[in-house]
Amino acid sequence: MTIESRDVINLFENWILDADTKLNEMDLVKNIKTYLESQHPEICGKCTPCRDGVVRLERLLDKYVDGTATLDTLSELEQITYNLRASRCSVGLDIGKNMEVVLENNYHTLYKPVKKY
Ligand code: SF4
Repeated sequence: MTIESRDVINLFENWILDADTKLNEMDLVKNIKTYLESQHPEICGKCTPCRDGVVRLERLLDKYVDGTATLDTLSELEQITYNLRASRCSVGLDIGKNMEVVLENNYHTLYKPVKKY
């Protein structure tokens, strides 16, 4: 497990304790992807929000990496994250909680490249 993925895994706990949940802007997308990929071994595939949602989140983040993200990309990131609340077990629920904290506290970093002037 990388330092970056630990940073995201600890986000929710940090958020509860002291609201110190901002990630480095430069590495934000990479950090989130590293975190999501680190969760693959835990995902059993029994429910859709987690099984399909995590992979979909990664593909949406790829759009940020290759510069093709739009407001719709960000909107879908939010929707898929919300859907993780319907996961059957704590694996998907925890991924969803962490992603909600990421979006809540680093939204401007994901919004900046896709906002319309
Ligand atoms: S949330 Fe739990 S049950 Fe659903 S796919 Fe993930 S690990 Fe499996």
